[in-house]
Amino acid sequence: MKKVAIVGAGISGLFFGNLLEKDKSYSYKIFEKKPSLNLKDGYGIQLSVNSIDILNKIGFNKINANDVFFPKKVNFFDAKNSKKICDIDISYFNNRINRYTTLKRSKLIEILLEGIPSQKIFFNSNLIDIEIKDRLSLCFGDNYNEDFDYLVAADGVYSKTKQILFKKEGLPQYFNSIALRGNIKNYENFDISIYLGPNFHFVIYPVNQYKEFNFISIIRKELIHEEISNKDLFNSNTFTNSLLNQISSKSNLNLIEQVEEIKCFPIFVSKKFQIPQSNRIFFTGDAFYSFPPSFAQGAAQSIEAANELFNDFKNNSSNYYQKRILRTKQINSRSSLNHFAFHLSNPFNVFLRNIFLRHLSKNKNFLENYLGKIYNN
Ligand SMILES: Cc1cc2nc3c(=O)[nH]c(=O)nc-3n(C[C@H](O)[C@H](O)[C@H](O)COP(=O)(O)OP(=O)(O)OC[C@H]3O[C@@H](n4cnc5c(N)ncnc54)[C@H](O)[C@@H]3O)c2cc1C
Repeated sequence: MKKVAIVGAGISGLFFGNLLEKDKSYSYKIFEKKPSLNLKDGYGIQLSVNSIDILNKIGFNKINANDVFFPKKVNFFDAKNSKKICDIDISYFNNRINRYTTLKRSKLIEILLEGIPSQKIFFNSNLIDIEIKDRLSLCFGDNYNEDFDYLVAADGVYSKTKQILFKKEGLPQYFNSIALRGNIKNYENFDISIYLGPNFHFVIYPVNQYKEFNFISIIRKELIHEEISNKDLFNSNTFTNSLLNQISSKSNLNLIEQVEEIKCFPIFVSKKFQIPQSNRIFFTGDAFYSFPPSFAQGAAQSIEAANELFNDFKNNSSNYYQKRILRTKQINSRSSLNHFAFHLSNPFNVFLRNIFLRHLSKNKNFLENYLGKIYNN
């Protein structure tokens, strides 16, 4: 039986593990550098129907109905005065079984963990080197080595696997933006609300039926190298509060009082596609390609990628990277366009953007092309 190492117990690695677990044609181990996975944090995630369809293969539909929400619309607002610009009916892309879903990321991780026997996950296992011989010899800290037939690198945006194989070229680049995350209780709107401001946007959506909401803001910010790598800066309350103040002062929502458990982190994206020379090493999820987070497809693509790779394993084919690149280009162009349009600051450009948004949000052909191609793939 071929032996697979999955590096990284995030959404992609755990989902791939679930697929292997159900199939039983391969033996596998999951290596995670952290000592445990956080199953408590309240931050949210959006999953479009394309990923729900795939997740249902491993029984995601058995989730407690109170732990998910099915938003019907995306509402766009002007952050300054909360005036509605337009809305998009995302439920249009739902079908009888699969619906656009929001939930806590920790809930998704919990469900993915349920499908994997605990003895197959090795925590505190930090991949530090790979030797490519007849088999792949993986070296984790503490001089622990083990040989595998395949390596599935699901170790996220800062993928160590990528750095081992591609050195500096494997590093992601700072996207001149910072993410600010938090939780809100009892927000008034139960759809997805996107507030557009100059050089920032923020999104609020429910994560379950308990009136808990996720707050996520993306703020354009140029930083020098020393600031980007300064963890203390991103952990400091002063810095986090100054960012919240910055967007709060340009919005008529009382964010300072409403947003709790606020955290910030720099956003990194992939520079280019990188395909390993060895045909036994596969990158999935953010390790393969990390998008600007303005199209909410990162997690969905991590799931899609794992599913495509599994199908390749099953069918003994080698289309994975070819298909993934095409798909990633589709998502990346939309994510970049969203990011650009959401953050316009010149009032005339904002005026024109809003006219376009109103028109496009009701144009079926456009929506089929822009969203349908992704959601109903
Ligand atoms: C601000 C923001 C908001 C987002 N919102 C959404 C959203 O609403 N919807 C959506 O679909 N996506 C969203 N995303 C994207 C989504 O979170 C990611 O795309 C997704 O989590 C990637 O999953 P992954 O499994 O590839 O990586 P991760 O979830 O990052 O998991 C990687 C794992 O690998 C482990 N690891 C790292 N290095 C090593 C090593 N050397 N050895 C062993 N283990 C290692 C890490 O500890 C981690 O557990 C958002 C992203 C950001 C930045």
